[in-house]
Amino acid sequence: MIEQPYVYRHKELVEPDWQRLPGWAGVSPQDWASAQWQRAHCVKNIRQLRQVIGHGLDERFYADLERDQAERATMSMLVPPQMINTMVPHLSPADPGFTDAFYADPVRRYMIPVFTDRRADWPSHPLASRDSLHEAEMWAVEGLTHRYPTKVLAELLPTCPQYCGHCTRMDLVGNPTPVVDKHKFVLGREDRLTAMMEYLRNSPGVRDVVVSGGDVANMPWPRLESFVAGLLEIENVRDIRLATKALMGLPQYWLTDEVRAGMERLATVARQRDVSIAIHTHVNSAQSVTPLVAAAAKAMLDTGIRDVRNQGVLLRGTNDKTEQLLDLCFALLDDAKIMPYYFYMCDMIPGSEHWRLSLEQAQQLQHDIMGYLPGFATPRFICDVPYVGKRWVHQVARYDRERGISYWTKNYRTAVESGDALALEREYEYYDPIHLLPEAGREYWRSRAATPVAVA
Ligand code: SF4
Repeated sequence: MIEQPYVYRHKELVEPDWQRLPGWAGVSPQDWASAQWQRAHCVKNIRQLRQVIGHGLDERFYADLERDQAERATMSMLVPPQMINTMVPHLSPADPGFTDAFYADPVRRYMIPVFTDRRADWPSHPLASRDSLHEAEMWAVEGLTHRYPTKVLAELLPTCPQYCGHCTRMDLVGNPTPVVDKHKFVLGREDRLTAMMEYLRNSPGVRDVVVSGGDVANMPWPRLESFVAGLLEIENVRDIRLATKALMGLPQYWLTDEVRAGMERLATVARQRDVSIAIHTHVNSAQSVTPLVAAAAKAMLDTGIRDVRNQGVLLRGTNDKTEQLLDLCFALLDDAKIMPYYFYMCDMIPGSEHWRLSLEQAQQLQHDIMGYLPGFATPRFICDVPYVGKRWVHQVARYDRERGISYWTKNYRTAVESGDALALEREYEYYDPIHLLPEAGREYWRSRAATPVAVA
């Protein structure tokens, strides 16, 4: 037997017992399987969290959470029972050590962030910003980001069934928090969707549409189905991807008869037209992959769509270890038939420094997972560089490790650079978390923060 850094073992998926949580001790399997019950019992505030978990969680946690919500959180709280149940799956709140385990839990770390999780020295990078990818600047019509030559992102709605603490679209998605007021769409939903469809009908160069939000699971199914059916009528649209973290956070929704039957209708037309429909989900931790999630993914594949793929986000404390990433990829691939596809570096939004990894760390993780998974299921690690777009972490052009500044190039123009002759020659910057830099680099940022600087 050769000793290896990672040892693969097939692990059976397990649905943790929700009845171990005092607030759900009497909940029946029928209720648990109901999307409606799940939505109605989402945890939206500290009072509700207390009702579910009770006194097993120390008061210091609730106080820590309250302070975060008042002073740091960019997303309001919304966690479906399905996701709460995957936190600390092997302990009940009455067990010794529950609070420490809850603090350390990989899913809790990004779904229920607390004040002491965040960096006290640099909670935000000085160049962090709302809408850090500048998607709104690239809206061809409101909510339709045209950033790449052949593909667009359609943000149909600004809500999700669950709100993630690190959400890239914190500018737009979710409810306002004490520290962040949300951008509001100007147009009503129907006007926006009509304008998007009109733009796509008149854009023969676009072949790939990511239908997102928010999360498409919050769009009433008939409206989502009619939007996708409209896309299927556009000659040049060849790939349609539906973005939904709810496949993991609220799998009960994707298992409803209405959604399964509707997806089957769409898949049938797509096959007749040689168009690929895929679902893209967002799972960050192996413990989130339960039998219900696997059932939802397989139900969608059974409708005849092309694929279900995962786009996770690299987050310190959640999945910054090789073993965690490989466990997640194998859980997705083995029993849920979800294809590991991307791991994004966490974007430079306010309050995200404690989650973010350096480019060097992301490169190391990409290196360390190679060779274990089938090539077709080996996810690429991606840095989404502002004004550039997705780049594999090894595609960096130059890297100043002392100051944590990486330099990237691009090979296409967006509308933002239509009159910019140097757009394809320029280098674009991305920044490592300051707390990971050597002292000289930290000093550079301290002195730079003291004098106002323009965003490069
Ligand atoms: S599901 Fe996606 S869009 Fe919604 S809060 Fe999470 S990361 Fe943001």
